[in-house]
Amino acid sequence: MKFRMKRIAAALLCMALLCGAMSVCVFAADKYDGYPLAQADTLKGKIVILDAGHGIENSGGAEGYVESEFALAEVLFVKQNLENRGAVVYLTRSTENDVYTYARMSYANNLALDEVVKKYLAQLESGNTDAQKNLDEITGLQAELQTVIDDHSRDTLYYNTPYSMSSPIKDVLRRVFEYENTPEVYENMLFISIHSNADDTGAADGTTVYYMSNSFADSQNYYTNYSNEQRKINLATWLGEAVSEAGGFRNRGLALNDFYMIREHNIPGALIETAFHSNAGDRAKLADETCRKRIANAITFAIEDYFAYYMASETITPEPEITPEPTPEITKAPELVYTADLDADGSVTSADALAVLKHAAHLELLEGRALEEADVNRDGAVDSRDALMILQYVAKLIPVENEDIYEFPVVTEAPETETPETEAPGTETPETETPGTETPETEAPETETPETETPETADSQPETPEMDEISAPAA
Ligand SMILES: [Zn+2]
Repeated sequence: MKFRMKRIAAALLCMALLCGAMSVCVFAADKYDGYPLAQADTLKGKIVILDAGHGIENSGGAEGYVESEFALAEVLFVKQNLENRGAVVYLTRSTENDVYTYARMSYANNLALDEVVKKYLAQLESGNTDAQKNLDEITGLQAELQTVIDDHSRDTLYYNTPYSMSSPIKDVLRRVFEYENTPEVYENMLFISIHSNADDTGAADGTTVYYMSNSFADSQNYYTNYSNEQRKINLATWLGEAVSEAGGFRNRGLALNDFYMIREHNIPGALIETAFHSNAGDRAKLADETCRKRIANAITFAIEDYFAYYMASETITPEPEITPEPTPEITKAPELVYTADLDADGSVTSADALAVLKHAAHLELLEGRALEEADVNRDGAVDSRDALMILQYVAKLIPVENEDIYEFPVVTEAPETETPETEAPGTETPETETPGTETPETEAPETETPETETPETADSQPETPEMDEISAPAA
């Protein structure tokens, strides 16, 4: 009986090995099994550069498993998936043969610059003759990078090789990076390098996705102006989640690194170490055809999710909200109003507005207070606009984000100020305060001009700065 069971088991194992009918990738039916229909147009026209990493001559591997062969199979699967969904896919390596590292980087950078060229050609067609200068420069940059493809010894002229993070980026590549920081590139392109991992002990397992960032300590002397960090973080996160789920791998999370495949271009991208081929369990899956397809589907879905996410957030955030001039000065108004206590009585009142108006009318010197303090909107002149802003502040029309900051410390010392008040009344305080409440009304005609601007400022003030703050890191 026992013997018979063993024979059956052995026969099943044989079948599994011989015909691959049984897979180490056994999962309940899920989306990673098949090739589901594309989400509507998400990938149409998107450009994805897939890098299968090192070729056969420099491949990692173990127990008959060959990393370069796995990575090539992956990029071919993913390419097919993406093309079925309308994307345009480029491979840095499409055979088992190695393609020189910096030739691959020049290839990717020049593909990105091709997109930048389209932008300036469109500008030129719409009559912007300045665009020709950009086109000429980009043509020059592309020609320089092409020389690395033709002659590998020229890589030192443009790239960080021999590898050293203590030397700054070369001028040509810096210009390339700057040109790549444009929506034509970062909204439409991805660069993904696919690998399998290894460690000495064979114990490590799981999926890691690497990305490059300005906060990576080693890059501080090289280049710290990479674009779109949040995009890279999202991409890396979603790749890691999908691949680990599809392959049943442990998700080791994302990690910063300065691998050349994510360092020598400024296209949103990631380097994915799908799993450890040095680990027997991981390796069995990496070698398995079913697993490979599931991993490729996972990478495809992560790419699709990435573009879908940014297409959605782009339609939610309407561009026209970026409004004209007045924003900068108004943004700081509450803070500056704080310093506008021109009569130094511990609170900003209509008396201070009156002082500004009198000064503007050359009726009064602003004694003891710097003129800059009265220039509340920081437009270089002390005028009725500043008075208006003070009055708006007093009337709480200008919102103050953090009340604590604008509490006036003198208020707590109120008892002390009582004494001077008994002295002061005759001289200044009552005079300025009483007319103060009237004067804005009487001088209303002066404040009418700025009033026409107020609706804009009052509307845009709470919104625009917030929008900028949100969109800046997200971009
Ligand atoms: Zn590798």
